Amino acid sequence: MRVEYNFELLQGCQCGMCPVHDGSQCINQKTNGLKFTHCSSTPQPQEVEGIYCSQQRGKSACTDLPRAKACVCPTCPVWRSHKLDTNYFCIEGPAS
Ligand code: SF4
Ligand code: SF4
Repeated sequence: MRVEYNFELLQGCQCGMCPVHDGSQCINQKTNGLKFTHCSSTPQPQEVEGIYCSQQRGKSACTDLPRAKACVCPTCPVWRSHKLDTNYFCIEGPAS
């Protein structure tokens, strides 16, 4: 199921808790080591590092994400509510 981009779903995204995310220097530099959700206004899809499963966001521009670490998407409420069955969207691109 395609995932839309909105603030409610963004808040449910678990990418900020993920070892793949934490293992990327590029993402840590972009986010200043902070998790991405703590914004007072709705950020544009390309301004967040997360919810990569969404068509509007898609995969990260960072290329140093360690795929050997475990993706935590299956723990995510968005993953469950959209009946997703793949993961590593940050590397592979959005759910279709
Ligand atoms: S399924 Fe994965 S990429 Fe999509 S919102 Fe959840 S943790 Fe983020
Ligand atoms: S899509 Fe999966 S592997 Fe990538 S950061 Fe999110 S939870 Fe981690």
